[in-house]
Amino acid sequence: MKTILVMGGAGYIGSHTVKHLLDQGYQVVVADNLIYGHREAVDARATFVHADLLDSYSLEQIFKNHTIDAVVHFAAFAAVGESVENPERYYFNNVIGTVNLLHAMLSHGVKKIVFSSTCATYGEPQYTPIDEKHPQSPINPYGRTKLMIEQIFADYERAYGLQHIALRYFNAAGCAADGSIGESHTPETHLIPLVLKAIKGERADIKVFGTDYDTPDGTCIRDYIHVEDLASAHRLALEKLGSYNGCLNLGTGIGTSVKEIISAAEEVCGKPCPLQYVERRAGDPARLFADNASAKQVLGWEPKYIHIKDIIQTAWVWEQHKKY
Ligand code: UDP
Repeated sequence: MKTILVMGGAGYIGSHTVKHLLDQGYQVVVADNLIYGHREAVDARATFVHADLLDSYSLEQIFKNHTIDAVVHFAAFAAVGESVENPERYYFNNVIGTVNLLHAMLSHGVKKIVFSSTCATYGEPQYTPIDEKHPQSPINPYGRTKLMIEQIFADYERAYGLQHIALRYFNAAGCAADGSIGESHTPETHLIPLVLKAIKGERADIKVFGTDYDTPDGTCIRDYIHVEDLASAHRLALEKLGSYNGCLNLGTGIGTSVKEIISAAEEVCGKPCPLQYVERRAGDPARLFADNASAKQVLGWEPKYIHIKDIIQTAWVWEQHKKY
C-alpha cells in the first residue's frame, strides 16, 4: 500500500481525490491551511495535518513524520480576479509555496508529484478543441503562476529527476455521487452552483455574462468535467509517474453554453431559473473545450460523466443537503 500526501486535500477537487484514493486502497495524509478548505470535507480515514505551503517548517515535519511515496498538489489559490488585484498573494502562495513543497519533498527523497494545473495556462484560445500543444499565453497572474510551476517541474526533472504530471483542468463541476462531499466556495463565483442557488431561491437570479459571443446561442461555451472523473485521473496519473512526465488536459471534450447549463438545470430541478442578461465579464473567451485524447491514451482514463444533466444532478443533490 502506498501513502500519498494530498496538499490542499480539504478543498473541492482535493477532497474528492482523497476519497477516491482511500476507496482505491491508498493511505492518505491530507495537509491544508483551511483558508478555503473545509475540515469536514476531509474523509475520516485520512490523517489530517494543518500546514501552509509558505511554512517550510510544517512542510518539513510532514515528511519527517510520515513515509510519503508521492504528492498530489491542489494547494494553489485560484481566483482569477483576485490574482489581478493582488498578484503578490498568488506569486507567494502558488509559486514560492510550490518551490517550498518541492524542497521538502526532495530533501526526503520524494520525487513524485501530480499537480492541478489549468486550461487558464493557454490564455485566449487560438483554436478549439485545445490540445496540449496549443501555445501557452496566460492572460492573468493566476494562469501565469500555474504555467511557471509547470516550467519549474521541467527544470527539476532535468536537474533532480523529478517525476511530474500536471493536469490541466477545464471546468470542474458536480459533487460526490453519494452526496457526502461537494462544492462550497465563499464567495461562490462558478456558474453551476450559482444557477442552482437561483433555482432554490437562495439568490435572486443568475446573471448571464454576455449574449453576443460568436457561439450558436450567443453565450460562452465551456467544458464541464465531473469532479469524480478528475479524481480518478489523479489516481491514474500517480500510477503513471516515472513512465510519463508532462502535462495532460482533463475535460470531456464537449462544449456546453451558459444557456444550455441553465436549461439543463431547470430540467433536473423541475423549476425555472430566474435570470438576467448582463454585460460580458472581462477576460472570458467565447469557447473553451478540451482535446482529451492524450489523457485517454496516456492514463487509460475515460470520463464517466458525459451528459451535463448527470453532472448537474449530483450538484443538485449536494446543493439541497450540503453539510458545509
Ligand atoms: N457565468 C455567467 N454568470 C455567472 C458566472 C459565470 O454567465 O454568474 C459564465 C462565465 O461567463 C463563463 C461560464 O459561465 O462563460 C463559466 O464560468 P465559471 O466562472 O463557472 O468558470 P470559468 O470558465 O470562468 O473558469
